[in-house]
Amino acid sequence: MGLLSLGKPLTWEEIKANNYHEHVRRHGLIQFVNLYNRLKDRPCDVLKWGDEVEYMLVKLDHKTKSAKLLLSAEKVLPVLQEHEEMNPNGDLKTLWRPEYAAYMVEGTPGKPYGGLMAHLNTVEANMKLRRQQVIELLNKEEGETALSLTAFPRLGCPNFSSPSYEPDSTDEGVSKSLFFPDEVIYPGHPRFRTLTKNIRKRRGEKVAINIPIFKDINTPSPFVEKFTNDYDGESALAAKPDHVYMDCMGFGMGNSCLQMTFQACNIDEARHLYDQLTPLCPIFLALSAASPLYKGYVTDHDCRWNVIAGSVDDRTKEERNLEPLKNNKFVIPKSRYDSIDSYLSPNGERYSDIDLILDEKDCQELMDAGIDRQLARHIAHLFIRDTVSVFAEKIDQDDTQDSDHFENIQSTNWQTMRFKPPPVNSNIGWRVEFRPIEVQLTDFENAAFVVFLVLLTRTILSFKLNFLMQLSKVDANMQQAQKRNAVLDSMFHFRKDLRSCSCDCPIEKEQCLMSVNTIINGGPLGDGQGEFPGLIPLINQYVSTVETDLDTRCTIMCYLKFISDRASGKLMTLATWIRNFVSEHPEYKQDSVVTDQINYDLISACDRITKGDLKVPELVHIIESKSSNDIPNSIKIAQDIK
Ligand code: GLU
Ligand code: MG
Repeated sequence: MGLLSLGKPLTWEEIKANNYHEHVRRHGLIQFVNLYNRLKDRPCDVLKWGDEVEYMLVKLDHKTKSAKLLLSAEKVLPVLQEHEEMNPNGDLKTLWRPEYAAYMVEGTPGKPYGGLMAHLNTVEANMKLRRQQVIELLNKEEGETALSLTAFPRLGCPNFSSPSYEPDSTDEGVSKSLFFPDEVIYPGHPRFRTLTKNIRKRRGEKVAINIPIFKDINTPSPFVEKFTNDYDGESALAAKPDHVYMDCMGFGMGNSCLQMTFQACNIDEARHLYDQLTPLCPIFLALSAASPLYKGYVTDHDCRWNVIAGSVDDRTKEERNLEPLKNNKFVIPKSRYDSIDSYLSPNGERYSDIDLILDEKDCQELMDAGIDRQLARHIAHLFIRDTVSVFAEKIDQDDTQDSDHFENIQSTNWQTMRFKPPPVNSNIGWRVEFRPIEVQLTDFENAAFVVFLVLLTRTILSFKLNFLMQLSKVDANMQQAQKRNAVLDSMFHFRKDLRSCSCDCPIEKEQCLMSVNTIINGGPLGDGQGEFPGLIPLINQYVSTVETDLDTRCTIMCYLKFISDRASGKLMTLATWIRNFVSEHPEYKQDSVVTDQINYDLISACDRITKGDLKVPELVHIIESKSSNDIPNSIKIAQDIK
C-alpha cells in the first residue's frame, strides 16, 4: 500500500509542531526534480508489467457456523518472505508484502513479466502458485483459508475477527472506531497505525463514510443506526439516515483489489499510457464490481471505491469547504484516495477540465527547474497533501540520492492511476499503475482482467487509439460505475471515434453515452452516430497480427470470452451474484441485514468457488485455461534468436 520505511513514526502533533510537513514537501519536490533530471532521458526500456493481488485470511468455523477474518498475517508473512530474504537477487517466483490489515497479505509475481505473448499464459499459473503458498501455511482442519475477496461482508460487526477484540472508541485509541478494533490493523509495520491516527488527527475528527443502504421491503425507513459506545456522540452526528455508516481507515484500506503496473519504453510513453488508461478506470470498476455488502448490511453500491476514498479522507473542515479558510491553504474537492485530476500527455491537456488545486509557488519552482508545465502541475497537485507519516530517522535526507520524501507524498495519493518515476539506483523505467479493479474470487477471473488490460495497452499503442475525454466526464463515470448493477444498468460517457486525435467539433461532441456492453463488445451508437468498434474486437485484431503460440492463444480467447460475457450480461458480476445469494438465503428477512449465518454460508460458497469445488456457471463459465508456470523453451529460444 505504499512506502514501507522503518523507524520511529511521529504523531501528527509532532509533525505539525516541527513543521515537518513543510520540510517533507520542500525536499520531496527537490527530490522529484533531481529524479526527473537524472532519468528523463532514460533510453528505451522494454515492456514489462506485473500485477498485485491482495488476499484476505479467513477462518470458517463449521461448528458454530461463523466466518471470521483471521488475524494471522504477521505469522504467515515472514514464512512467505523467507525465500526472498535468503536470495534477495535470486530467481523468485513470487513476492509478498504486508497490507493494511492483520488479515491481509499481498502477493506479486517474483519478477515482472516481459513483452512475450507467452508471458500472458503464465499469469494465472503464477496466481495459483501464490494462493497455494498462502493456503499451505494455514490450518485447513481449523477451516482457515485465503480469499481474494474485495470486501468482507461483516467487517466491523461484533466479533468479526479471530481472535476477537473490542474496539477502543476513546481518543486514546488509534482509530477511535466504534466497530474496528486497533488490533485488526497490521501490527508488523508501524506505518499502518500511524497513518490511521494521523489521518484522524489531521482531519480533526474521525473519518466518516456513508454508503446508501439498499432499501428492501422490510428495511426500516428511514434506516437509522444506533450506536452503544459512541461516548461523545461524534458518530451519531456523522452518520446519515438511510446510509451504512463507517468510521475508520480499516473499512476502506481493509478491502482488497487487483492492481497492475506497466513499464513504458520512456517517459513520454508512460505519460501517454497514463492518459489513455484513465477513461477506462470507471469501465473496469463497473466490470469488476464485487462488493455490495458492508458492515453486515446490503448497500446500494456494488464497488469499494467511495468507501476507501472516505476511509483516508484527512481533509479538515476548512478544506472540505464546511468552514471558511483560516488555517489551511485550499478548499480541496476530493480525498487523497480518488480519481485523477489532470492528464499528463500533450494531447490530454485540452481534456483536463477539472479545476486543479495547487500551490502556484510549488509549480513555479518545478518549472524553474526545467519541468514542463503539465507535469509540474501534476506534481504540485499531489503536493497539496501533507505528509501523514514521518519517521524520525528519515527526516534528513540527501536529496540527490534519496527519494523518500517524494515517495512519501506520492504513495499517499491513492488515485485511479499513478505515474511512477524510476526508483533511485535501479534498472526500472518510467511506469504507470492502474488501480481501480476489484479483485475476483478465482485466479481465472483475475488473470482474465490482467491479460485483457495488458492486451488493451498493446492495442492502444499499436493502433494509436485515442480514448481521451474530459476528466469531468470520467469523474461522472466513476460515480455511475459504483451503482447497483452499473455494468448493465448505467450509461457511461465514452469517446466515439478512437482513431482520431481531435476533430473540429466541440470536445463534448467527441463522446456520447454508451453501455459497458457497447464499449467492450462494440455496437451501434444510435441516432445515426455510427458504430463503436468495441475493445474486444480491437484486441482481437491486434492479437491476429502478432505471433502467438497455440496454448497462449487459447488462454487469451478464454479470457476475452469471459470479459465479453461479463460486459453483455451473459455472466453476472460477483456483486450481483452476492446480492442474489443474500436475497435467496432462507435466513434473510428482506431487511438488508447480512446475519452471521448468511455471512458464513456466503463465505463458504466463495471459498468453494475459489477452489473450483463449487461451479457457478452464471459467474464464471470457463474455469480451465491452458495457463502454465513456464514458458516453453522453444519460444524462449525463438525470441533469443530474434
Ligand atoms: N486495498 C486498496 C484498494 O482496494 C489499495 C491499497 C494499495 O494501494 O495497495 O484499492
Ligand atoms: Mg496493496
